[in-house]
Amino acid sequence: MNRSTSRVPTILASAAALALAGFFSAPASAEGTVNIYTYRQPDLIKPVLDEFTKETGIKTQVLFLDKGLEERIAAEGQNSPADVIMTVDISRLTATKAKGVTQPLDDEIINKNISAQYRDPDGEWFGVTKRARVVYASKDRVKEDHLSYADLADPKWKGRICIRSGQHDYNIALFAAMIAHWGEEKTERWMRAFKENLARKPDGSDRSQAKSIYTGECDIALGNTYYVGLMLTNEKDPQEQEYARSLKVIFPDFGADGGTHVNISGMALAKYAPNKDNAIKLLEFLSQHEAQKIYAEKNFEYPVEPGLAPSEIVSGFGELKADMLPLVDIGNNRKAASEMVDRVGLNDGPSS
Ligand code: FE
Repeated sequence: MNRSTSRVPTILASAAALALAGFFSAPASAEGTVNIYTYRQPDLIKPVLDEFTKETGIKTQVLFLDKGLEERIAAEGQNSPADVIMTVDISRLTATKAKGVTQPLDDEIINKNISAQYRDPDGEWFGVTKRARVVYASKDRVKEDHLSYADLADPKWKGRICIRSGQHDYNIALFAAMIAHWGEEKTERWMRAFKENLARKPDGSDRSQAKSIYTGECDIALGNTYYVGLMLTNEKDPQEQEYARSLKVIFPDFGADGGTHVNISGMALAKYAPNKDNAIKLLEFLSQHEAQKIYAEKNFEYPVEPGLAPSEIVSGFGELKADMLPLVDIGNNRKAASEMVDRVGLNDGPSS
């Protein structure tokens, strides 16, 4: 570990963070610093931040929160030390903008590196990486190598599908994409049929759905691509490698209407960023080749940089043909998707 990395503080819980509230106001860091508020696991962003510091000399201070990030910045108001916000999922990015804690940024470098589909039209958030919501399918029990999202409602899958909570951001974004493509009526018909195909009540995480395939509880599940890479390479918990090896990744699509649903991890310039110049330098850096490569290799995410290949493991899943739907359209259908999940009673599991 070099000297710059040891200076990156990591605060693991919001309670602990509050106890260190004076931390960001240290006068010694008024120059050459950028303060990051993030929902992202510190391990996942550390490699890119280390590289940023190495290149620019600008130090990064990270405040990791597992909830209430927007509320906290809003409460801090004009005195907020937040310069950059990093988070995952279109839901949270939309929520961050809606809370009024970001500011618009029209930056030539960033706009060139990140295609319009993956950024807010007002420049209040930007995608940094992509992840696809795919089918995890049992290598032994599923013959199919291709499935559409519509196929998941086919009665032939009755009692064979597992998912995490229908209200989880990842599933809400997928259902919101369905509404954008199909409209509410068709999506609701799909969801009712899909519900009857579930093996059990929605529960757990994406990783635990992979375990459910391994144990035979279900044959297919919905999950994000990067978890498969993280599980396949998990040295600390080799059991996870076995779970991941029991499944194959299938890229579902919307047939003629579109490709595989992708979501993003993203970044935003905080409304009152006290170190605005450094913040912009960091945002630009994260959009550039070097950072994109680190994300791809270490986190098994898809770069937003056009033409940059994902890691070898992720390339091995097959070719991602990403849906072209602008993420802002998905964000706008989140509420309708969430209400539909309740109306359908998706989280109650199958009725018989
Ligand atoms: Fe995740």
